[in-house]
Amino acid sequence: MYLAYHREKMILTEVKNFINGEFVSTESTLDSFEPSTGDVWATIPNSDKNDVELAVEAAQNAFLGWSSTSRQERSNILSKAADILERRLDEFAEWESRDQGKPVRLAKLIDIPRAVYNLRFFASGILHDINSSTILEKANAINYTIKQPVGVAGLISPWNLPLYLLTFKLAPALVTGNTVVAKPSELTSVTAFKFCEVLNEAGLPPGVVNMVFGYGHKAGEALVSHPCVPLISFTGGTVTAERVRLASVKYCKKLSLELGGKNAAVVFKDANLTKCISSTVRSSFLNQGEICLCTSRIFVHRQIFQQFIESFVQETRNLKVGNPYDDNCIIGALISKEHLNKVKSFVTLAEKEGASILCGDKSDGLNLSDDKKNGYFMRPTVITDVADDSRLMTEEIFGPVVCVVPFDDEEEIIYRVNSVKYGLCASVWSQDVSTIHRMAQRLQVGTVWANCWLIRDLNVPFGGIKESGIGREGLKDSIHFYTEEKTVCLQL
Ligand code: NAD
Repeated sequence: MYLAYHREKMILTEVKNFINGEFVSTESTLDSFEPSTGDVWATIPNSDKNDVELAVEAAQNAFLGWSSTSRQERSNILSKAADILERRLDEFAEWESRDQGKPVRLAKLIDIPRAVYNLRFFASGILHDINSSTILEKANAINYTIKQPVGVAGLISPWNLPLYLLTFKLAPALVTGNTVVAKPSELTSVTAFKFCEVLNEAGLPPGVVNMVFGYGHKAGEALVSHPCVPLISFTGGTVTAERVRLASVKYCKKLSLELGGKNAAVVFKDANLTKCISSTVRSSFLNQGEICLCTSRIFVHRQIFQQFIESFVQETRNLKVGNPYDDNCIIGALISKEHLNKVKSFVTLAEKEGASILCGDKSDGLNLSDDKKNGYFMRPTVITDVADDSRLMTEEIFGPVVCVVPFDDEEEIIYRVNSVKYGLCASVWSQDVSTIHRMAQRLQVGTVWANCWLIRDLNVPFGGIKESGIGREGLKDSIHFYTEEKTVCLQL
């Protein structure tokens, strides 16, 4: 009785699938938890193969109409969606925070504004994209190219930056004339669901975007292995990506994979330490360390190591952890109990291996209000005295845990940074442009930030190498991925 009453009070949102412009319930649902309280706050569809089938069918039916619209028409609808989302920024930020655990302030500053920007950026970018042509004088012929949409695009997104990453796929897929079936993470479905209202209001024709919610191994896998979905854009873990590759290989699908990282920051002795320390504290712990681009290994030149670590630990201790509604809180809750336990298990491993835990979990307590006592919080944790071959230094932790270790020279540090299986990004801190240039050339990553972190221009390619992914996203790269380029040769 109490439970039923409790659930009724807590469940605010009933997420439904969005198929052919309409919201559709499923027989079976899943509970979705609010990370900062540990309570159920939404139910989401437990979609299966049949739901995916309906969504794909709707997307197929809408394809001819949508792909025949002009770029300008598609751009207008996306721009309108951006305006509506911007007008509703505060409520979307609050939903993102409740669903994901991040501070509301962060969602207002980064997640939702970036989702708005994704829509605007591709809505305008597509208008400036031109095709190539050549003239063959001897044969008296002209070659020109046409970029055509691929068909029904399957978009699979993770829980860490839910609407931000979903719209980074949705916007280029739509402006290039594809129709879409999206499967957001089962842990964070709410803003994607609410965004469907925005798409309807913006005048997107029914069936152009369809969303199915639920488990990855069920709804996600059904989408990836569907023979009528020729393109899959996936952002998530490296292990899941293997299943995605295997399920799609039979159909020779176009694949874009944005995967995990074990990103390093390298701090040379001539670095501007004030700027470097505040930036690396941010790069280690922003969004609870749950960003694929977060720094996880910091290598500091031995001559400045002590000075660095003292200030770094001091600044980390100042980060307030707790209530996501509190504007002074920098660190919210981790996504789930299971993930919290996984992240904490790395701190236990550090203890077992005899590493030094300088601050955070196991050394500092949390001071949470009663309503947050069951939330999935942990303190940002700094670890040192750890070997390069420890799992702490090789595996993606994806939480507020960073390892800081010394190095002696450039040759050595290039080898150590490159010695992991991942290759997403790195940051280099030095005032010497030659050092930066040499490092940038030799680090095996998709993005190098020098004396900064997370400054992003959507015009430039983004993606990982090694086990951090396949393909690039960004204006030109995304247009390339979401289209098939055809050559026409016309003899005059
Ligand atoms: P995940 O791999 O568990 O899930 C990602 C998505 O895939 C979810 O929607 C999930 O439901 C779905 N999925 C799971 N199994 C599937 C299957 N068999 N077939 C099809 N879909 C399936 O990842 P996550 O835990 O949601 O996200 C964290 C991971 O994402 C981290 O490794 C992080 O580094 C990575 N990530 C990478 C980038 C990037 O741009 N490189 C950005 C954000 C997150």
